[in-house]
Amino acid sequence: MDVTIDKKLKDLWKLQQIDSRLDNLRAVLGELPMEVADLEDDIAGLQTRVSNITEEIGELNHEISNKKNAIKDFQRLIEKYDEQLNNIKNSREYDAINKEKEIAGLEILSAEKRMREFGRHIEMKEELLGNTQNALDSRNQDLEFKKAELTEIEKENAEEIEKIMVERAAADAKLDPRMHRAYHRIRGNVRNGIAVASIMRSSCGGCFSKIPSQRHSEIRAHYRIVDCENCGRILVDQAITGIAAMVEEKVEKTTRRKMRLTTK
Ligand SMILES: [Zn+2]
Repeated sequence: MDVTIDKKLKDLWKLQQIDSRLDNLRAVLGELPMEVADLEDDIAGLQTRVSNITEEIGELNHEISNKKNAIKDFQRLIEKYDEQLNNIKNSREYDAINKEKEIAGLEILSAEKRMREFGRHIEMKEELLGNTQNALDSRNQDLEFKKAELTEIEKENAEEIEKIMVERAAADAKLDPRMHRAYHRIRGNVRNGIAVASIMRSSCGGCFSKIPSQRHSEIRAHYRIVDCENCGRILVDQAITGIAAMVEEKVEKTTRRKMRLTTK
């Protein structure tokens, strides 16, 4: 047994246990932070839609009032033509004015038709606005609920995480730079955050592949750092973990369940 290797393995295992505890606490938050972010995106999108539709309705109303003004202008024009018709000099003039009056009348009809079209557009837009606003309201309610849930869990966890982070800093500082790099590289590459795995019934506790007996002996010898041939996780034996064979099985079951959850 190499004393330095023995210490390195113990330090690595210690840090792994601390990180696993932190992983578990953070896993309690689960999908919540992502759900909150998704909802916030949805809400931003719906808010944009609501303001766009509102703006479109405003434009249509503006068009309607333009048409109303145009109709009033034509009505005044018609009144003027009627006065002129009362003081008519000859039939040619009479025909010309009547023609103008007729045109103004047609303009009014066309403006009224456009107004009805705008009105129908507004009705459609208002229905759309109502639906969008309802969707927005319900998303806002969901968000409020999810945020409250998240805050509560975070509050519960924060204190414990803070305590563990102090422990973690101490454990992290104990590792030499090379081990530190290796540990974090492996942890970043694996799904369940297990960089240092214990041996469980002659298998890797990280990926559950069988460990060849030669390699098993090397792990037990604490003569060098041995990794799993299959997954690259650093392997430690019971002398390092202090986990007795009976407990091992229970740990394995939990880890397997967690693997299933994280690989979903
Ligand atoms: Zn493995």
